[in-house]
Amino acid sequence: MRYFPFFHDLHQRACLIVGGGEVALRKARLLARAGARLVVVAPECEPELLRLIAATGGHYREAPFSPSLLDGVALVIAATDDDTVNAAVSEAAQARQLPVNVVDNPALCSIITPAIIDRSPLLIAVTSGGEAPVLARWLRAKVEASLPQRIGDLAQFASRFRDAVKARFGSGDQRRRFWESVFDGPIAERVLAGQSTAAEAVLRQAINDGQVPSGGEVYLVGAGPGDPDLLTFKALRLMQQAEVVLYDRLVSEPILDLVRRDAERIYVGKRRSEHAVPQEGINALLVRLAKSGKRVLRLKGGDPFIFGRGGEEIESLAQEGIPFQVVPGITAATGCAAYAGIPLTHRDHAQSVRFITGHLKDGGADVAYSELVSPNQTLVFYMGLVALPELCQKLIAHGKDPATPAALIERGTTPAHRLHLGTLASLPDVVARAQVSAPTLLIIGSVVSLHSRLQWFTPGEDRHQARGKGDVV
Ligand code: SAH
Repeated sequence: MRYFPFFHDLHQRACLIVGGGEVALRKARLLARAGARLVVVAPECEPELLRLIAATGGHYREAPFSPSLLDGVALVIAATDDDTVNAAVSEAAQARQLPVNVVDNPALCSIITPAIIDRSPLLIAVTSGGEAPVLARWLRAKVEASLPQRIGDLAQFASRFRDAVKARFGSGDQRRRFWESVFDGPIAERVLAGQSTAAEAVLRQAINDGQVPSGGEVYLVGAGPGDPDLLTFKALRLMQQAEVVLYDRLVSEPILDLVRRDAERIYVGKRRSEHAVPQEGINALLVRLAKSGKRVLRLKGGDPFIFGRGGEEIESLAQEGIPFQVVPGITAATGCAAYAGIPLTHRDHAQSVRFITGHLKDGGADVAYSELVSPNQTLVFYMGLVALPELCQKLIAHGKDPATPAALIERGTTPAHRLHLGTLASLPDVVARAQVSAPTLLIIGSVVSLHSRLQWFTPGEDRHQARGKGDVV
């Protein structure tokens, strides 16, 4: 280890910055955030830096650097574009054992500044010891993306109860175990979801009882249309926390792979007209698992509130008083359309878009056709494959132009993504000739014609069908 890491308390302490330009300003902003008083010496100074100096109660000296300026300062930063000046600052500071940083010149530094993630009071610092600063910043971005936005709130929340927990538990070991169960359980989850008041009530009770309740809860999470990269940060976090997962056919294998390894997996089906577990059974199962103290993940394709029956599932939870969270996902319409290069609205083509179910009821699609034939709107049919010929024919019968462009997107956003193009009149035949497998999404409207210009996504090589058949694109 070439450097020893530590965090420096600079609150109200004078820090000298030599230099008055853009680079000095960047360092000054960080120091100001840490509460330092800025002293800047330079022949000239950026107006924004001047404002910052004033805001910290510091001062600006319009002068060249001289060692006497080091009196009474806690830290020195050299940020000029003159190597000789930078070297002189470093030498003078080191002669007095003052910590000094020369921007972009590790050889002249006694301290180096890391890339940081500031979720105060939590701070994460990453450095490559000056060897590969871009790599350190890249790593910082990766870590940042994996942290819940409210992790700092959680630290503050914990800090408020530190004394109470200390008073309740005699041994350090007990305290550590208690805090671990707080951070790994529903209390922390509530703080991270922005429900600090609810979390506080549970924590107070837990301190009283001497243990965190193993109260179960349910996360109703949208898994998106197939590509795991389309998951939200929150979805991923809850997927890695839950102890049981209920999933159905629309949830792709690569997404399931991201669920916590030791979580119990329960397949609840949902193929057309073949439900491994009927809806009432799923609702009851969620209630039963949560009541047994489990953190339950209900993972659904796309968005749980769009043709996902998510509303019904949480209704029974609400009735039973079981805590739950709902995490939206990218719905098939937006996912498939984006990957197919079909904007769902467009100034020149469509001012509105409708998501419609094409699911057959009592042998016929229960669709209000007369509302759908007006121009300048995009129609997106979910579950429309079986009814496709009937949907197209009825739309034409109700006055929709038979030449309206139409597309069927098969297994959108996945490596098996295929696009079948045609018009309202021709698409049923195009689809009948291709061997199409579910899930598929039907998009009707002149926006479909934009695909030829806007296509960007190339599906993977492992598609089950060769290219070049029929009208497959
Ligand atoms: N809640 C889901 C929709 C569930 S209904 C969502 O928001 O996306 C199931 C229908 O969604 C399927 O019949 C199909 O029409 C559509 N669908 C879901 N994933 C799809 C995909 N990857 N490609 C094409 N259609 C998809």
